[in-house]
Amino acid sequence: MKINSEAQTFSFNHIILLTLVLTSSLFFIGCGVVDVVPADTPAKSNIVFVTVTPEPSLTLSEGKRFTEEVAPEPTAGPYFADANELGKVMVLEYHRIAYPEERYQRTPDNLRYDLQRLYERGYYPVNFIDVVNGLTSVPPGKKPVVLTFDDSDISQFRMLPDNTIDADSAVGIIMNFHYQYGDEWPPRATFFVLGNDVQDHIAIFGQPEWTKAKLQFLVDVGMEVGSHTVNHTDLSVATAERIEWELAVSKHVIEQLIPGYTVQSLSVPYGGFPYTHDFLKAGNWGGYDYHYAGNVAAWGGPSVSPFDPAFERYKVSRLEINTTWMDHWLTYFDQNPDKYYISDGDPNRMTAPQQQTVAEN
Ligand SMILES: [Zn+2]
Repeated sequence: MKINSEAQTFSFNHIILLTLVLTSSLFFIGCGVVDVVPADTPAKSNIVFVTVTPEPSLTLSEGKRFTEEVAPEPTAGPYFADANELGKVMVLEYHRIAYPEERYQRTPDNLRYDLQRLYERGYYPVNFIDVVNGLTSVPPGKKPVVLTFDDSDISQFRMLPDNTIDADSAVGIIMNFHYQYGDEWPPRATFFVLGNDVQDHIAIFGQPEWTKAKLQFLVDVGMEVGSHTVNHTDLSVATAERIEWELAVSKHVIEQLIPGYTVQSLSVPYGGFPYTHDFLKAGNWGGYDYHYAGNVAAWGGPSVSPFDPAFERYKVSRLEINTTWMDHWLTYFDQNPDKYYISDGDPNRMTAPQQQTVAEN
């Protein structure tokens, strides 16, 4: 992957200090904040909003590659014989991608290693919303896995001074892995971002001038952008009005930043659920309706299949990823292959193992 010299001429001539956007931001957030928002909602008085007209694509810096000897061709199972669409699905939960390895922080090398091991075992990346929608795009014999990233930290998507994507950021790692393996590993992941582009200390992915271009890039290559609320609020202790403000405004802000895109997925911060899941499905704040199709929990282990009667689309279990848990679950599913979801490749049929019927569940 060469660094595209055109990237050097990224259109900073299009940089606009958006007085107009400032005004409109105040219109759709500010007015409400001042007049209607719950008392515990932070004021947004110091708004600085700089944006860049996105180029058609961003380029990626070189980064580390993988050698053929550690990347054998995965063996897909027979078309139907081994299909098991009642098996478990891992929804992996990442936060920062940086050194050193610690809680809420996976190193770039370990993320690459995670991808490598998943690939070698026949896993296949999908977005979170694909699980909710019944995993219709997984090739036969493949095992779906979801990579999710919470908090929109800069280490998930960092632009370097030469205007290339940092190959050690999560997006750089995923894209380089995709460029290495092509259709065997499409660029799929779900980024649950804070729907807050107006407070620079928690700007989405930490570089306000790149916010729009980054979000557009994710969507353009096929990844998913979901909401992680506006201000990383624990919804289990928030008022009803605050909950609806967080869920409506974050969705609206993200959709403003990605024209034509619909946010469908949610990740409640701290795994804190409101007292009824009804808030997660739909609601309204200040004239902004919202609907979410699914929500992830912060823990719980591998999720049950979306075809399992126990599947709860507003409380889908995740695996908080560290080396111990990654080792544990990869080994477990190596030793118990009948426990994992294996696609039959047919988007219209759910295939259960021979010895098991849905009725018995
Ligand atoms: Zn979070």
